Amino acid sequence: MGKVTKEEYKEMTGNFIHDIIDEDLKTGKHTEIITRFPPEPNGYLHIGHAKSICLNFGTALKYDGRCNLRYDDTNPAKEDMEYINSIEEDVRWLGFEWNERLWASDYFDTMYEAAIELIKKGKAFVCELSPEQIKEYRGTLTEPGKESPYRNRSIEENLELFEKMKAGEFEDGSICLRAKIDMSSPNINMRDPVIYRVVHETHHNTGDKWCIYPMYDFAHPIEDAIEGITHSICTLEFEDHRPLYDWVVREVGFWPNPPRQIEFARLNITTMIMSKRYLKRLVDEKLVEGWDDPRLSTIAGIRRRGYTPEAIRKFCNDIGVSKADSTLDIAQLESCIRDDLQYKVESRHVVTNPIKVIIDNYPEGEIENCPVENNGKVPELGGREVPFGRELWIDGDDFMEIPAKKYFRLFPGNEVRFKGAYFITCNEVVKNEDGSIKELHCSYDPATKGGDGDRKVKGTIHFVEASTAVKVKIREYGYLMKENEEGKLEFDPESLKETWGYAEPSIADAKAGERFQFFRKGYYIADTKLTTDDEKVFNSIVGLKSSWK
Ligand code: ATP
Ligand code: MG
Repeated sequence: MGKVTKEEYKEMTGNFIHDIIDEDLKTGKHTEIITRFPPEPNGYLHIGHAKSICLNFGTALKYDGRCNLRYDDTNPAKEDMEYINSIEEDVRWLGFEWNERLWASDYFDTMYEAAIELIKKGKAFVCELSPEQIKEYRGTLTEPGKESPYRNRSIEENLELFEKMKAGEFEDGSICLRAKIDMSSPNINMRDPVIYRVVHETHHNTGDKWCIYPMYDFAHPIEDAIEGITHSICTLEFEDHRPLYDWVVREVGFWPNPPRQIEFARLNITTMIMSKRYLKRLVDEKLVEGWDDPRLSTIAGIRRRGYTPEAIRKFCNDIGVSKADSTLDIAQLESCIRDDLQYKVESRHVVTNPIKVIIDNYPEGEIENCPVENNGKVPELGGREVPFGRELWIDGDDFMEIPAKKYFRLFPGNEVRFKGAYFITCNEVVKNEDGSIKELHCSYDPATKGGDGDRKVKGTIHFVEASTAVKVKIREYGYLMKENEEGKLEFDPESLKETWGYAEPSIADAKAGERFQFFRKGYYIADTKLTTDDEKVFNSIVGLKSSWK
């Protein structure tokens, strides 16, 4: 399921980035479009990343180009196979396949040569100011910076010191390599930014070969240039870094047709956390079940929750690509999920907070099978049979002893249709000692078999036959994060509610990962972690009705 076809992205909605690409193809600046998705393997991907994935991979498909998966691993850190595996699983689950899988750390040699090149051109210098001093010298938005006293070292001295940095002769933070640009630039990023620092740490890929590591703003444009990336798409917060991006590829000068950085607004969705760091905190503090908790915005979470890759791709396409930050309503995402599922999945009859119904005039011990359609909107999905008998369960919401206005379901004296079976009238409510309902005594009209009669009934409800009912666990999800009084998002411990229900017998065949509409209730998926042959556990995916307009 879910694999992307080229056709899908041939029809991808255009955006300002595609306008730029169209122009570049027209002028002959590029003949092939190459993009990349560059995650740092320090956590699980979330739906914000999905937007970037759809944009980068989708654009490559649209233009018959290529898209690389590149791990941005220039910070020395232990390799975490869990993160790497999850990233690849998530990209593939979304339906995309990378052209090449690459590691930024494989380019350390070229980055080092690029640094040497800058030094030789008099465009970089070794600086011995402390990190605090560098910050102090940098100036502010309103004040220009101050030049480092080490700025005018000779090229020879710089080469020698940089060599010593590489050889491990300096402590972390005692020395660094800086680009020599302009300390009075209105753009603080251009005020002689640090491009290499000393870090005595083992790197998962290069081991102890290096004790100097490139800074992101220096490394990223080089990574893009080496791969021949034509359009380097990133989020808006890098807009102010673009002059430095351009400066690096231009001044190093190794690449005749350097890449172009284009920024777009990151995806924000109400109630959803889009920061890996915060997500990691929720996981580490065990406030959630793990990175794949169905309430999380992680791709692993929404996959387990039952969202489909088709719906995510459609959502990412529909919301477009913007230059202005905004926050989308979660209901818009939910509506895409609902739209996708409503024509795909079969329904099953499930009741929660069940109430026992006894059909007094129905023969004891007899069971008959009632045909019902699997999906009212898609006849091609066929039908199945649900058993009907003397003892049934109905949903707690489908009975009111004292009916509210416009309540057309079951109440004493009222007749309703039991879906696919008969017209049923409620005659008597029998209570337990504590006042709760023990059972409803009802009668059926044999002339209304199949649920059709010569008179109108206003309500149709579903039921589950008691002797064949299968008990299922149901996990209802609210939003993980709730706005507190200050309008800040806060973890809501009540975002998971575990309940149970009775389901028609065919639910016993449900496989982990299978999705259904629980008739009249919502969409559910058999949880891939908790469902066993003996016990079915369902996650609520999304309700039936939208609150989004
Ligand atoms: P963090 O959550 O720590 O800020 P990150 O989201 O920047 O990390 P990366 O692994 O660096 O994580 O991101 C990979 C790519 O995904 C980057 O190109 C980044 O711009 C993009 N991306 C990340 N978050 C979003 C988002 N909310 N919307 C769109 N693109 C995003
Ligand atoms: Mg990042």
